[in-house]
Amino acid sequence: MEQIDAVVIGAGVVGLAVGRELALHGLEVMVLESENAIGTGTSSRNSEVIHAGIYYPAGSLKARLCVQGKQLLYSYCSARGVAHQRLGKLIVATHPQQVAQLTGIQARAAANGVHDLQLLGSAEARAMEPALKCDAALHSPSTGIIDSHGFMLALQGDMENAGGLLAFCSPVHAIGAGQGTVTHPLRVTTEDGTELAARCVVNAAGLSAVALAHRIDGLDKSLLPRAYCAKGNYFTLAGKAPFARLIYPVPEQAGLGVHLTLDLGGQAKFGPDVQWVDDPNDLQVDPSRGDAFYAEVRKYWPSLEDGALLAGYAGMRPKISGPHEPAADFMIQGPQQHGVAGLVNLMGIESPGLTSSLALAREVLHRLHPG
Ligand SMILES: Cc1cc2nc3c(=O)[nH]c(=O)nc-3n(C[C@H](O)[C@H](O)[C@H](O)COP(=O)(O)OP(=O)(O)OC[C@H]3O[C@@H](n4cnc5c(N)ncnc54)[C@H](O)[C@@H]3O)c2cc1C
Repeated sequence: MEQIDAVVIGAGVVGLAVGRELALHGLEVMVLESENAIGTGTSSRNSEVIHAGIYYPAGSLKARLCVQGKQLLYSYCSARGVAHQRLGKLIVATHPQQVAQLTGIQARAAANGVHDLQLLGSAEARAMEPALKCDAALHSPSTGIIDSHGFMLALQGDMENAGGLLAFCSPVHAIGAGQGTVTHPLRVTTEDGTELAARCVVNAAGLSAVALAHRIDGLDKSLLPRAYCAKGNYFTLAGKAPFARLIYPVPEQAGLGVHLTLDLGGQAKFGPDVQWVDDPNDLQVDPSRGDAFYAEVRKYWPSLEDGALLAGYAGMRPKISGPHEPAADFMIQGPQQHGVAGLVNLMGIESPGLTSSLALAREVLHRLHPG
């Protein structure tokens, strides 16, 4: 059986960032990916926003890793020439009752170490974005956008330059017990029966991470969360948007509300909404959902014209909290949590997982080698 220091399962943005981090720290790494390319899962079906770290509960992994990840990501993009823009965003109150919520969001951001939010009156916000209708707004200057595929290619390049390997068409079926040591490694079995022995295994299988964790021998399954799928549908704008920044309503329970984001080519899209589904592969966008988008978007952009929204794409949130539960934090279970040496399971890595990816990778290294 081939023996290696570390196996990372999944070549999405998180698996690639982890593979890079471990390879840069001198480990012999192999990333196993079930598909025939990197980033074909949630990592290519998101908003490509570099989040500031505003909304998450203070002390949560999402708050800490998003704020740290944002800084790491901006530095990385600049150093490696990954396309990105620090456009900034406005969070808009479209009703007088929401104005107080903006102050609450500003306080929550400050508790997370994000101190650059600025509260604007409606005239100040309109001076920045003349097409906007709002009662007040919060300006977040450190929010940005990124070419997520370019980022993943750069991560892959770094990992391979450091000696890491990437194997496509290699779905992992199960992980066998071991003690994460040279004499008792973990055994990773792919669906074609190939076996690899590894001291460290990182499960970064995104939407499949919880199901895969159930196939890990010797892991206490009572520690695993229930997995849910919350689809996020996007509608694109025909024509050019009259906005230079990202525009977000005050957030809803399971998502950040139907917001406007821009890609690096200036194309505007609206979404994602929240649609709880059972099938993680259900990625078709139902055009009739557009009706609700018009109503939501017109709250902050009244002059959106009929017929301007076109069904776009959808992404699937790998949720570990259900429809009527408070949003769960990222769940990172390492040896300290489950007692299996050398194993880290990453579950519920929904937004802001892209922003947090470099910080998540550092966290995984720390969980494997604390101290
Ligand atoms: C609608 C939406 C919008 C979002 N917007 C943003 C945003 O603007 N900013 C932000 O920071 N975050 C955003 N996110 C979150 C971000 O996209 C994710 O957190 C991130 O992409 C997760 O990456 P990942 O590598 O964990 O998962 P994935 O990209 O899903 O990668 C997992 C990989 O594992 C592979 N795999 C699965 N099972 C196996 C197996 N058994 N063996 C081998 N390989 C396997 C899959 O093929 C896949 O390639 C958004 C998410 C959604 C759904």
